[in-house]
Amino acid sequence: MSKDLNDFIRSRIRADLDEGDLSDGIVTRFPPEPNGFLHIGHAKSICLNFGVTEEFGGSTYLRFDDTNPRKESENFVESIKSDVRWLGFDWKDKLTFASDYFDQLYSYAEQLINDGKAYVCSLTTDEIRNTRGTLLEPGSDSPYRDRSSEENLSLFRDMKAGKCEEGEHVLRAKIDMSSPNMNMRDPVLYRVIHASHHRTGDDWCIYPMYDFTHCICDALEGITHSLCTLEFENHRPLYDWVLENIDINYHPPQIEFSRLGLEYAVMSKRVITELVNRGYVEGWDDPRLYTIAGLRRRGVPSESIRNFCRRIGISKQDNLVETEYLDFCVREELEQDAPRGMAVIDPLRVIITNFDEEDEVLTAAWHPKNPELGNRHLTFGREIYIERADFEEIPPKKYKRLSPGAIVRLRYAYIIRCDEVIKDGNGEVVEIRATYFPDSKSGADTSGLKPKGVIHFISAANSIAAEIRCYEHLFISKVPNGDRLENELNPESVRIYSGLIERALFESDAKSFQFERNGYFFRDESTSRLVFNRTVTLRDKWKPTT
Ligand code: ATP
Ligand code: MG
Repeated sequence: MSKDLNDFIRSRIRADLDEGDLSDGIVTRFPPEPNGFLHIGHAKSICLNFGVTEEFGGSTYLRFDDTNPRKESENFVESIKSDVRWLGFDWKDKLTFASDYFDQLYSYAEQLINDGKAYVCSLTTDEIRNTRGTLLEPGSDSPYRDRSSEENLSLFRDMKAGKCEEGEHVLRAKIDMSSPNMNMRDPVLYRVIHASHHRTGDDWCIYPMYDFTHCICDALEGITHSLCTLEFENHRPLYDWVLENIDINYHPPQIEFSRLGLEYAVMSKRVITELVNRGYVEGWDDPRLYTIAGLRRRGVPSESIRNFCRRIGISKQDNLVETEYLDFCVREELEQDAPRGMAVIDPLRVIITNFDEEDEVLTAAWHPKNPELGNRHLTFGREIYIERADFEEIPPKKYKRLSPGAIVRLRYAYIIRCDEVIKDGNGEVVEIRATYFPDSKSGADTSGLKPKGVIHFISAANSIAAEIRCYEHLFISKVPNGDRLENELNPESVRIYSGLIERALFESDAKSFQFERNGYFFRDESTSRLVFNRTVTLRDKWKPTT
């Protein structure tokens, strides 16, 4: 993955660097609103903004866009910082908040008022919406549009001083109510919000809008490339208008790229908030969500997220990426490093009737291709557990696992034969009685027997009980409709098993394991109970072309 990346943004940066007026390198920013946790879409933007300054030299701001105290909190700020760090990026001393600039933003607003370029409008929110016009029809001027600068200034100061109700007045830019671009039809710049802000407390009761704030913060921080997603393309004229109409000596270029869309994932924070608040998931870090915290708890390594973002690339094309692509990147990392071990997810007891001794200790490698990881011990004994799915009372043709009268090899151990099936009152199989062949030990097999299959097992004496969680997609459809969530949820998105794992896994310091034949699993660190989350299954159905 060391190949130089090339995309239209990097080409543009190279050209700008060649022109030679960027002696301190480039400056970018990642500007999250602290109203939720970050998700994989944000990771794309983080990898781009931090990635280009790593590649070309320069610095990246982590700037919180904290202009709506009703929805934002310190808790979200902390989660975002820890997620960015976990993804492997460092903002160094460039941690800022839009609220750091509230004073400056306010004086720029007064400047627009004094210059006759902004006015206090006293229409209600609905009236403003209804007089905005449509894509086909121009809007109509607000009756308050021609207030004098003095009156505007005095009203704006009243708004700031807390003398006005929410919705009573707003500050609007005076641009053009018949502009073909709806964003230019006298957009709101400031509104009254009587809510405590997580950083500025009750200092302010007016808050600037994103479109006014963002461009000014970019300019004040000397951002050389303001990279944002395509939905802001038609906000760009407003970005430029604000900077052209205030007294500021720097004007960054805004450059848009397409958002990441991922099948079976929702990327809207409004919808994720709803999933969390309505209890459809366990929290923002639910392993079924494509939030960074959820992916981490699921066991996805941060390298695989970075590789994924690198591979999907940057363009202006709308895209909907298959989840298998991400899974591929996850397996690629785990395959190299995750120790192997055995876990029985849904245990079925087997009694080896001709084995009466103490458990026999066996040795197995932690990793088939990575001898540096060394070996582990496991045992074989009279009472063992196999996977319920590895036994069929009436096997289909060519069945390779255990069935009455059939033989199968136990991984790292012996060949066994099923002699008897014990059922409970409901007819459910609860135990198998089997014999083992002492001369069939793995690696020293002189039995001449030829079992068709190999299955995993754990001896009772070597087992530790663990909760094992297997996840499927949270949603039924590839592109879930966030407005009717209750119809979109997959009722089988998580299956919880009372399983068993080898003692050696429990004692290991590793967090990610390959449970042989079952997939990659990760020790859930959010609970003191022993829980393993399935990160990804073993098989790739899919290979990338690049
Ligand atoms: P919302 O869900 O309310 O639209 P948001 O995802 O845009 O919010 P922000 O906190 O404003 O949330 O996002 C921070 C940055 O991440 C923005 O610059 C945004 O363009 C970028 N971003 C958000 N979603 C994606 C995505 N799916 N792909 C790429 N970048 C994204
Ligand atoms: Mg946003």
